[in-house]
Amino acid sequence: MKLRIDIITLFPELIRCFAETAIVKRAQDRGLVFIKAYNLRAFSSDRYRTVDDYPYGGGPGMVLKPEPISRAVEFIKGVTHSQPRVLITSPQGRVFNQSLAEALSLCPHIILVCGRYQGIDQRVIELCQGEEISVGDYVLSGGELPAMIVAEAITRLVPEVLGDEESIHFDSFYDRILGPPQYTRPRIFEGRAVPEVLTSGNHSLIEEWRRKKALQKTRLVRPDLLDKLSDEVIHEW
Ligand code: SAH
Repeated sequence: MKLRIDIITLFPELIRCFAETAIVKRAQDRGLVFIKAYNLRAFSSDRYRTVDDYPYGGGPGMVLKPEPISRAVEFIKGVTHSQPRVLITSPQGRVFNQSLAEALSLCPHIILVCGRYQGIDQRVIELCQGEEISVGDYVLSGGELPAMIVAEAITRLVPEVLGDEESIHFDSFYDRILGPPQYTRPRIFEGRAVPEVLTSGNHSLIEEWRRKKALQKTRLVRPDLLDKLSDEVIHEW
């Protein structure tokens, strides 16, 4: 197994459904990746299985208590005998992107903590040396979707997970820019023909066209990606 991801959540059924579907399931069946969901409630010590409490200082909503999260993290470390990277899903975190996914895909063990309500007690984030990670500048109701986003983006970068046809080399961000537009049959759809070059059979022309289109689109919708690249790299394209 190349990558283990443990996910701590109040809704493990969401994660299990994700982990048992499509590429992630295939990666697990082939023994390349292992994803496990833990119910945070199982780590609560009182008989009501309480995991949240009122915020100090007042204000609306509830906050996830530190003890169950800390216990869950320690439990997982005890099982695996490893020093995992602990990622805490939070809109206040570093924004997740392909470079971070690449870095994380080299890490053999990751724990993802899903927040809920108003978030997680700050002390447990610090004590677990958790790295806060955000999926974008918007607020969701829980960390389950972010955890699945992170888990899927990382899984598909693990060597051998994707077949040749799904190769990451054709994806957006692989070259730090967006990918080219894609077409399939029929050749003419509602009067619109597929760009001729794609049916020419000339691979170098096709490659050149795709690069040009990818660059054009990036310039139009994501000029910030180009700002990060040196002129030299852009010229190579
Ligand atoms: N009160 C918090 C938001 C809590 S949202 C704040 O203002 O920062 C509840 C939980 O949803 C969070 O603890 C986090 O786990 C998850 N979440 C919401 N938006 C997210 C985002 N953009 N990225 C990652 N996790 C997010």
